[in-house]
Amino acid sequence: MKILVLIGNVPDTTTKIKFNADKTAFDASGVQWIINPWDELALTRAVELKEAHADKIESIVVANVGRAETEATLRKALAVGADEAIRIDADAKDAWYVASQLAKVAAGFDLILAGIEASDYNGSAVGGMLAEMLDMKSVSAVSGIELADGALKISREIDGGSQTLSMQTPLLAVVQKGIAKEPRIPAMRGIMMARKKPLNVVAAADAEEHTAFVGFELPAPKAACKMIAEDQAGELINLLHNEAKVL
Ligand SMILES: Cc1cc2nc3c(=O)[nH]c(=O)nc-3n(C[C@H](O)[C@H](O)[C@H](O)COP(=O)(O)OP(=O)(O)OC[C@H]3O[C@@H](n4cnc5c(N)ncnc54)[C@H](O)[C@@H]3O)c2cc1C
Repeated sequence: MKILVLIGNVPDTTTKIKFNADKTAFDASGVQWIINPWDELALTRAVELKEAHADKIESIVVANVGRAETEATLRKALAVGADEAIRIDADAKDAWYVASQLAKVAAGFDLILAGIEASDYNGSAVGGMLAEMLDMKSVSAVSGIELADGALKISREIDGGSQTLSMQTPLLAVVQKGIAKEPRIPAMRGIMMARKKPLNVVAAADAEEHTAFVGFELPAPKAACKMIAEDQAGELINLLHNEAKVL
């Protein structure tokens, strides 16, 4: 079985968000980039499956649509345990464009793992679009994958419970929290090995862009915090009632 894990390159969650002067684009200067958290968990699960079923899983490949700056993120994915990386040399313009680029390298994989959303633009679109473009079965909101009896045992969280499915490959799974307990931290040996693993750069394919970004706004600043002494419960109720108007 060959596994492909899609890797989004996103700003670290502590990044202070800024936009360019006319507020039409994110200002990436000084930003620390990381593997999209859901993709880090997906990759961790793929590595765990390969360790548990070395006889069944041939390789794990990671792919990103991005420019050369994203290679540090792909090297980290190789250090975590992927065997090979592909960078499609294009700006990630919108979800359709990203999925179209990924479709050019995603044929021939038995299992494709996408994150449920990218933590920057939160589109929740690429995985489903890619499955359609590849005409591949897909399942969303996956929180567990096991190999069992020649099939994939898929767990999903549903309202008030969980669901278990048995699915055959080829399959695209859109994964969420719970797919792995903790993201795997690369060990020194993994970091050294990652330097020698293949990172192939593929030219961008022709693809349409369907989105024009009109403008971005930061949320309104939070109101100042009022501290109320612990023996002033009456004052707290008064403020909640008359000022915040939540009571
Ligand atoms: C309003 C807006 C403005 C944007 N402006 C810019 C911009 O100016 N410049 C720019 O570079 N990007 C920009 N983007 C980001 C770009 O559109 C996204 O990279 C793309 O749309 C995918 O993000 P998503 O939120 O749709 O991904 P989602 O559908 O939420 O991502 C789901 C999963 O798809 C996979 N995935 C997502 N992106 C990639 C990727 N690049 N490579 C590999 N796998 C991936 C990951 O597995 C991820 O977990 C913008 C996006 C939006 C919504």
